[in-house]
Formats: sequence, structure tokens, C-alpha cells
Amino acid sequence: MKKNDKDVVTYTEDEIRSDPYGFTLKEITEVLGEQEAQKLFNVLYKKKPNAQYQTVKIKEIQQGGDTSKYAFELKDGYCIETVCIKRKTGTTVCVSTMVGCPVGCIFCESGSNGFIRNLTPSEIVQQVVLLKEKVNRIVYMGMGEPLFNYNSLIKSIHILRDRNGYNFPTDGITVSTVGPLTQLKKLREEHLKIQLTLSLHATNQTTRNKVIPHMSGNKIEDVVEAVLSYSERHNRKITIAYLLLPGVNDRPSDVRQLSRWFRGKNVLINLLQYNNTKCFDMKSPNKQQLVAFKNLLEREGLEVKLRESRGGKIKAACGQLVSEHNKKGRGAVPSAIRLDIEKSRNNGTVHSNVPKNTREKAHLNKKKRKITKKDI
Ligand code: SF4
Repeated sequence: MKKNDKDVVTYTEDEIRSDPYGFTLKEITEVLGEQEAQKLFNVLYKKKPNAQYQTVKIKEIQQGGDTSKYAFELKDGYCIETVCIKRKTGTTVCVSTMVGCPVGCIFCESGSNGFIRNLTPSEIVQQVVLLKEKVNRIVYMGMGEPLFNYNSLIKSIHILRDRNGYNFPTDGITVSTVGPLTQLKKLREEHLKIQLTLSLHATNQTTRNKVIPHMSGNKIEDVVEAVLSYSERHNRKITIAYLLLPGVNDRPSDVRQLSRWFRGKNVLINLLQYNNTKCFDMKSPNKQQLVAFKNLLEREGLEVKLRESRGGKIKAACGQLVSEHNKKGRGAVPSAIRLDIEKSRNNGTVHSNVPKNTREKAHLNKKKRKITKKDI
């Protein structure tokens, strides 16, 4: 990869042929010419996956009812997980954008080993293209915070939606985020009509800081305003993911605040049930508690759905993705990780308490992962 005198990035033929899933048709055309580029795109997206061009491989597929979990091995030996969920209306794939995660949500195991590295656009695209099943929805909701890997996220969407290649409908793509403000504002300006889900999980800063520790630098009111602004600009219904934690975020004041923010807006609130993980010692709400909270919100005029948890049997549900292969196979984490975490921090997206190395971070997470009713 080089920059020419007009500051435009150019690639070599070798770079493209060794990892073609990471390039747009335009980039390939600039190097190989129109005819060759389209020929290569046909091989990548219109035929059965060809091992010659893959930089990730399927290590394992676990089946659990209507859910299947893929473990993909990356070139450097790390593993990521991708989940396919069969629904009445088709199959959804939930893709990962990072190995590990720097955000440290208290209920989620994906970040329990800290952040290892960002995925490349190619590694994201291959999670979709190499599946053994046909999907009609792509959700960026697996391991990692997609907006902290902004460039790979956007490029992978452009590649997957290209009419000359995989031709995936843009409005079948959802990005799920904890809402880093700088990137949310950038996303608003993209000419991409994707669906957006905000993982909110709280109605005040104190509770949100406990549930999503590394987002404490982003004011909750500003995050809500930014997603509503995205909704208006793109004329899209926004989904608010709200993990119900009894005694923590299901109080009358929470109902009132949700109503103040979202009543009369183009918003759907998805109430989620906590999926048991080793890292968070809290009881999941029962059906009665979920329904009671839903009713209270509906009485305020909000649109609410209870989202059924899927994939729990094979640890493929939300918050449960953490590749066992990384734990077993890798041992020490390379020092380059520190640089990646610093990069995230420099984007203004990670709280300034990001630890100096992953071991410290895991320790910090462990301490922070205790949340009780008394804390709030
Ligand atoms: S829920 Fe998402 S953002 Fe939070 S730690 Fe897990 S993977 Fe990261």
C-alpha cells in the first residue's frame, strides 16, 4: 500500500491477490483493470468460496437448535466467533469486528480477555461469505464494538453491498453500538442507509458508567441525541437495546426518562434478558418482570418488544461470545495490543482509564464487574 503524490492510497497486484476480500471493486479495477477485476469479483462472490483467496478458515461449527456458532481462525492464529440465527423470516448472521473488546460491558464475556486487535475489512467480509448458510440479515453485534473499528466496518459494508459482487441489501445491515459520540456523528454523515441499534441499558450516567465502564466519557444525553439525529437524517427507525437488570434499571424513574427521550420518536425499544456469563453475578429477570416493565413503557406510548434470547445452549447468545480457542491456544498477548488500545483512546472513544496492558485491563474489568443494587 502506497500513497501517490495526490495522497491517494494505491495497492499492488500482490496485495490484492493475496487478500482480495479486503478490497472494493473500484480498488481492484484501478490495479487489475475492469475486466480482470470483475472476473476476480465473480470468483469471490458468485461462486463457491475458493480456499486460494481465504485468509480465515472455519475451525469449528457448533449447532444448537436454530443457532449455529462458527469459530473462524485468523492468519495470526487468533479466533473469532460468528453466529447464525434462523428466524421465521430468514437467517441473521451476527459478525464480529474485533478479537476481544476494549469496552468492558459488565455483562459481557467478549471483553473479559481485554482487547486483542481490530479485524480487517477482509476478515469481516469473510465471516459472511464463507458461511454454509444463506443469510438475509447481517448484524454487526458479535465480538467487539464496531464503531471503534470504524474504517473496517464501513469498508466491509461497502464491499458486501456492491451490486457487482455479494450484492447484499443495505437496509438488511444493522450496526449495534454502545454509542461513541465521535463515530456516531461520523456515521450520521455517511451515505449509507443501514439500521442502527444503540445499546443503552441505563437512563442516567451513574448507572451507565457501571454497566458500560469505558463509555463514561460520553454523556448519555448526548449519545441519545446523536442516535435520534441519525434516525431523522436517514429516516430510519432506531432500536434501543435495553438489558433489563432488576433493581438496577427498572425503576419508575427509568420508565419516565425513557418516555421523555423516546415518546413520539421513530424508536423501538428492545428489552433484553441477561444471558448468564461467568463474569457477572446477577440474576436474569424472569418473564413476569420483563412483561411488567414492557407494559409500563407501553403505557407511556413507547413501542417495545421483548427480544427472545437465542443460542444460550452453545454460548452463542449476546454477551457470551468469547473464543475458547484464544484462551487455550494463545497464552500471552502480544505487546502490539497496547498500541491498538492507545489508538482507540486517541479517537476519543475509550475512557481515559484504559489500562496499560491487557492483563491490567482484565484485572480492572474483574473489579468493575461487580454491580449491585446498592451501587446505583
Ligand atoms: S457488549 Fe459489545 S461493546 Fe460491550 S464488551 Fe461486549 S462486545 Fe464489547
